[in-house]
Amino acid sequence: MDKPDTKNMTPTKFKGFTIYTSPELQKVLIDVFSSNTIMQKNVEALKTLIEKNYIVFGYSKKSLFSKIMNKVYPLRKTFDSECLFLPKANKIVIVANKVMDESNLKIYKPDLLVDIFLHEFSHFIAKNFRKEFSGVVYQSYFKFMAAVIAYLFGVKNFSYFKSRHLNLLVKLIIKREVKKLTIKKVMKLYSNNVTKHFISNSVYSKEEIEKRWKELQNALALYVTQGDSFVFVYSNIKQKSPYIHEAIVSGYKVLGLAPQYYANNILVQEYLFPSEVLANLWQGGKELSLVSPLIQFTSRKL
Ligand SMILES: [Zn+2]
Repeated sequence: MDKPDTKNMTPTKFKGFTIYTSPELQKVLIDVFSSNTIMQKNVEALKTLIEKNYIVFGYSKKSLFSKIMNKVYPLRKTFDSECLFLPKANKIVIVANKVMDESNLKIYKPDLLVDIFLHEFSHFIAKNFRKEFSGVVYQSYFKFMAAVIAYLFGVKNFSYFKSRHLNLLVKLIIKREVKKLTIKKVMKLYSNNVTKHFISNSVYSKEEIEKRWKELQNALALYVTQGDSFVFVYSNIKQKSPYIHEAIVSGYKVLGLAPQYYANNILVQEYLFPSEVLANLWQGGKELSLVSPLIQFTSRKL
């Protein structure tokens, strides 16, 4: 059904679209949470977040996925793209009519919806609770980046490198995400804390390191400036500098995450946004012990 009947429903306006919700519809989502083993114990807290409109579950006449993305990724035009965290509005939005059968209010894949919700919840925590997020993401992101950097720059003496420089780099990238530092600042921190140590500590030549570093910088600059149209340049980057995404793959492998949770993504975001790594881990059923305390905390603090 393309045009749900939204009369008598409560609208929440976003840039470019409106979500219409009702107590009846919200109950459908609460039932999904109640039937899920991870979310069960957090139902009251989740209800609070729904009541306070941080989680918006309702009908929309539009898809959340942009036209550009739909063109490039027609296969993603379904279920998993209809739950998104919108940072400006500070809400997790789920388009009900795309994830359920409207005639009987039945969610097509309840557990999958929870997995996707958990992904977006990581981004939500990063935006709203800097300190708590920094604490929970650190360990995984450190492990992840250790593999990424080693792959990307062919680091040899890794234990020295890890203790001296990686710790600092990881902390700074996390700080960058939560404090919204500029891309210029990130480049500087990558440069200061990592690249200068590579040349003497890598299996690659100085020229190769410099080339890789330059290409990574270009890719990240494009990523932050191009928005959705980054997808058009991504395949070029993948071809020209395959190590940029291969390094990210090696990071997820070290964390033991199954490829289905990252293989079809644009693998660049992880260099700048640690919340993406945690998001994929949660979505893939890893590090879930962190989830409940954070949901409880969120419902009390917001
Ligand atoms: Zn994400």
